[in-house]
Amino acid sequence: MQRSRDSTDAPSLATLGPAARGVVRALLLGGPLSRAELARRLGLSPASLTKTTRPLLVSGLISQGIALVSEQRGRPGAPLVLDASRHQFIGVKITADEVFAVRTDARGRVGASQSAAIASPEVAPVVGQIVALVNELSGDQRIQALGIGLAGEQTRFDDTVRRNSHLGWDQVPLARLIEERTGIPTVLSGDARALTAGVQWSGPGKGMTELAVLTVGVGIGLGIVLEDTVLSGPTGRVGMIGHNRVSDSGPLCAAGHRGCASSFLTTAAITGAIGLPHGRADVDLAEGCALAAAGDPVALRVFADAGRALGVIIAQLVNTLGLPAVILAGDGLDLLAYAEASMHEALAEHLDPNARSPQVLVFTSGFDEWARGAAVVACQWLLDPPRHRYTHPSSPRTT
Ligand SMILES: [Zn+2]
Repeated sequence: MQRSRDSTDAPSLATLGPAARGVVRALLLGGPLSRAELARRLGLSPASLTKTTRPLLVSGLISQGIALVSEQRGRPGAPLVLDASRHQFIGVKITADEVFAVRTDARGRVGASQSAAIASPEVAPVVGQIVALVNELSGDQRIQALGIGLAGEQTRFDDTVRRNSHLGWDQVPLARLIEERTGIPTVLSGDARALTAGVQWSGPGKGMTELAVLTVGVGIGLGIVLEDTVLSGPTGRVGMIGHNRVSDSGPLCAAGHRGCASSFLTTAAITGAIGLPHGRADVDLAEGCALAAAGDPVALRVFADAGRALGVIIAQLVNTLGLPAVILAGDGLDLLAYAEASMHEALAEHLDPNARSPQVLVFTSGFDEWARGAAVVACQWLLDPPRHRYTHPSSPRTT
């Protein structure tokens, strides 16, 4: 009887050659696939495909599915199948006050999750908390790689935290600090981009090659997928849409802009604007929604203005990038219950006359989903040919 295989005896995906990584990636995203279809997608000859897949079959990473007889031609085509569960990843999302962690398989399916409140924003204790969560989640499973998503100017597949305002971190070599303690290869990503990676890899954007994920909450985040790739740019600054001006009048944001997207849309902007006329500083988003539900004119107006701001930035994105779909996410999304109508109105008003109206999807999730996205980034990092880190232009170069 064949010994059952699990993640403890799985080879590291990082040790695979470029062609084998291509096979794994194609089967992860579109499998099971026939040999003929796989060869076509990867541009390989049947002989090269056989050579590439043989060690993957021997190691058990992929297997031959049940032969299907094509109804039209009557020719058997046994598809190749990938066992995603043999490759386990951990994704972490760090907010201003909490760490969320999930263990996933290579397709990004969550097997377990954990979270912890951040006791101190200093680097060492947060690293200790992440390591504890990772140890708890990994148990005796072999973890292929660890992805961490957090705010800041992280480049694609980065190792250093830059300008994270939530924790006050800058130039923190977080990937190395975690690797030293866990032995697990670790990669960093901007949190909105990590969320976007998960959305496109195995979430509501699966199969879309062009889309944006726009998040509202503490701040405004943006991930852009063009030509099947999540954009990050050489400096990690792609997606800074939060201070785009959406109106000539309006409140001031913390940076002193009048009428920028943040001045209307962040949770603090909304709760502050609702609380002020009521003489209260303790209104949270849930209470703001309750006030709007009860017909409070201030709350209704604040949400309507937030919806207009959202509509304008969606239009700006679609006009600039020609995106067919925008997915809204983030913990501030409850505002949509009272902002959706004005959002659609402003979107229609600001869309270029020649632009196609985008699909606007609403994706409600907790921070686990952001952590799941970071796990997807870790998997993409191992499968990216060649595996490498992008050097930030401001990083000191070693020669
Ligand atoms: Zn601003």
